[in-house]
Parts: sequence; structure tokens; C-alpha cells
Amino acid sequence: MQFCRFNVDRLGVVQGDEICDVTDALDTLPDVKWVRSLHDPFVAALDQISAKAQPLLASAPRLRRGDVTLEAPVALPSKIIGAPVNYHAHLDEAQDDHGLHQGAKVHPIDEIGCFLKAGSALVGDRATITLPKDAARVDHEAEVAVIIGKAGRNIAASDAMAYVAGYSLALDMTVRGKQDRSMRKSCDGFAVLGPTLATPDEVADPARIAFSLSVNGEVRQASDTSLLIRSIPELIEMCSAFYSLLPGDVIMTGTPAGVGPVAVGDTIVVTSPELGVLTAHVT
Ligand code: MN
Repeated sequence: MQFCRFNVDRLGVVQGDEICDVTDALDTLPDVKWVRSLHDPFVAALDQISAKAQPLLASAPRLRRGDVTLEAPVALPSKIIGAPVNYHAHLDEAQDDHGLHQGAKVHPIDEIGCFLKAGSALVGDRATITLPKDAARVDHEAEVAVIIGKAGRNIAASDAMAYVAGYSLALDMTVRGKQDRSMRKSCDGFAVLGPTLATPDEVADPARIAFSLSVNGEVRQASDTSLLIRSIPELIEMCSAFYSLLPGDVIMTGTPAGVGPVAVGDTIVVTSPELGVLTAHVT
């Protein structure tokens, strides 16, 4: 199923151009007064919620997709993890374009590991990205995101797919500059996620998810996850060797070649045959 969060914390299942409102499937979630764990209760209970949502679909109120406001499918992950330079073709362009890394040596992901983006950067489909003042250049990075479904530490790559709740499209928006990645990639609106959380049964082969990005209709990035330097299971192993992964954690798996600057007025569209269409507007 393709789950979405819409119109302030309502739960939907996307079917074509319609959204079935299955918010009643959330009725067993805790009514949290104080947050004691950053794990996401919705993602942690996804199997049970899927089972409850299924029989609701036939009679669920249906809304037109264009009439609702989508939010990021995870409300507040404990971590938004980014994989730097994780496609060979992007590694090549990063080494050729000094604007990307300011002339600094580009280190392979196996040396520097992953980085974190602030949760406050998270927004959903059709979001507005406001360019920060003083940022000379802000780039789009289209990525496939993995959403973790259960807690784990020191997860072996061979076991990793059992920890995956689903997949989304993502934009890892990035200021190019000398600042640390955690600052350059954490501006408000710089983690665009959606349009849905697609459960694993929606994806024929996670090692071959095709996706592309266009700016104002011009295709700039097109690739698929078979070209990742470190695969999805390898990223889960790498990250969980350093910290626990929790339900709702998001791993943005890296961007392929074709990154480039955006400008005020641009419309960015990321598409995937299996994961849908994710749009953002630059202001
Ligand atoms: Mn990235």
C-alpha cells in the first residue's frame, strides 16, 4: 500500500488520483503526552495498521489528490541519514566540478560514512523550499529514501531488508559551500519526503528502483538504485554499526549524477514508476 499523511495527521491510502481516508486504522496508537522515544509510533505499528486499513478501503471517504495537503509520510524521524557521494557517476562529477565540494578532496563513502540532516528540515510533497539568504548556490539532489520499520543495532546486510518499512522519494537539498554538511543540508524545507510511504510489496526490486528529476520540465537526473556504490542493505549495516536505527528513521540513499543549482520560481519534480511523483517549489 502507498500510505500518506494528509490534512494535519490524517492517514490515507493512495489509489491512483484518489486518497482513501483510513484514519480510523490509527485508533490503537498511543496518545503521547511526553515523548520518551523518538521512534515513530505509526511506522512502528505499520503491519497492524495495514491490516486494519485494508478492510476500511472499500467504504473509506475518497478525496481527490489535488484537494489535500500532503505531509511527509514520517512525522519526525529520530534521524534523517544522508549517504554522501554514493553513485559512481556523481563521484565523477563531484571530482570535476569544484563548485560542488569547494575544491576539497572528495572522500569515498567507505571512508567518511553517512551524515545527518535536521528533522526540522522535513517537508512533504508540493512543499515550498525557501532559499536561505547568503547561500550562493543551492542544489537539488534526487534520491530514493528508505524508511526503517523496527529498531536495530549492528544489523548485518544479509538481515537488513527485514528492517525496512518502506520507500519514498526524497530531495536532499544542499547549499554548496564550506560549511559542514549537517548545516548545509538542514535548512528549513531541505528534506523533502514523499509523496507516500510505499510498503515493500509495492517495489518489485529495491536494488533496481528507477527515478528521475526535472526542473521546470527539463530532465536533469535519471538513474536507478542498482548503480549505488553502497546498496540499501549495506547502508543499513554501515549506519547501524554506529547507532541504533529506530522506526521512522529515514535513510536518503544518495544522489546520482546531474545535480545542479535551483533558482527562485523553479519547480522540481522527482518521479519514479513505483514511488510516485514528488514536487517542490523554490521561493
Ligand atoms: Mn544527498
